[in-house]
Amino acid sequence: MVILRIRGYALPDGDEVDLYTDGDRWTTDPVVGAELVAEGWLLPGLVDAHTHPGAYAPGDRLDEKLLRADLRDHLAAGVTLIRSPGLADDPPDWFGVADDGPRAQHAGRWIVQHGQFFDGWGRRPAVDDLPATAAAQASRTGWAKLIIDWDVDDDILPVEVLRAVATEVHAVGGRVAVHSQHALGGAIAVEAGVDSIEHGMCLDPDLLPRMAEQGIALTPTLALVTKSVNAYRDRPDGPRKDWIVGGGGRHGHLTAAAVEAGVTVLTGTDSRPHGRVADEIRAFVDAGVSPHEALAAASWAARSYLGLPGLVAGAPADAVIFDADPRTDLAQLDRPRAVIVRGRRAG
Ligand SMILES: [Zn+2]
Repeated sequence: MVILRIRGYALPDGDEVDLYTDGDRWTTDPVVGAELVAEGWLLPGLVDAHTHPGAYAPGDRLDEKLLRADLRDHLAAGVTLIRSPGLADDPPDWFGVADDGPRAQHAGRWIVQHGQFFDGWGRRPAVDDLPATAAAQASRTGWAKLIIDWDVDDDILPVEVLRAVATEVHAVGGRVAVHSQHALGGAIAVEAGVDSIEHGMCLDPDLLPRMAEQGIALTPTLALVTKSVNAYRDRPDGPRKDWIVGGGGRHGHLTAAAVEAGVTVLTGTDSRPHGRVADEIRAFVDAGVSPHEALAAASWAARSYLGLPGLVAGAPADAVIFDADPRTDLAQLDRPRAVIVRGRRAG
């Protein structure tokens, strides 16, 4: 295997580093004849913490060819790690380990209440079976993903059920992510002690300090929510418009307030085409999050939350290299100079 070398200023601190690959690990031990891939500003790769590759439209089965192409798009954009909180089907064995894609964590198929979510996607066990189903999923892949609220006027999962889910999943060493876009769903998620709130639209900002204290992450999917707000503005008035334009209209403030409160906030795109995490970073910055914190949510802080260290000796050999500091020039995000995953150069 070719030995790769990267050199430059490593974020978050901007310290000068000079790293060499040793298989899938970084080392500071110089190796004669190593290939200098690039010099510049270094991140341990970007993270898309909410992406569902491998399906064009809700309800579609997982398409392996499309999955591969979507993962390539992530990697080309500098994404070396994704988390899929829900997939159309269980992924093939090469998911997360193939040379042409990022590392990946996933929650298998969504776990859903009857009558909610997209037809053809997810599992709908009886309410009493939800904790056991979630625990079985989390023991396989580390994550279970539940849809705890859905459309306007749909039932919200009772807090005691979600608490049982969290308890059983934690007992097998797993983590729970929940889809929530209603105030009551957000409150229940915090009360039940889940690990990650997805979207979190309409979440009461007063809950943010408690989320920070309990280590509950928020993946606001802000660019996507903002897009639906814009799509709904010209629609006729009604409860759904009030919900999306009202809650979604406050979502940028909520995202910035979450960062300010010390919540672990993660970038997630939740949309096609894949490889657009830069749009989410810009949405954070547009909402008033500093570029440094927006990049933290899209890189080192997200990796740390998902259990991977940054650019230090002994860490997994992932990196994305930019010509200039992406914090002062966000356009750098559109043109990474080089991407390395598992000690190999991508592309
Ligand atoms: Zn999603």
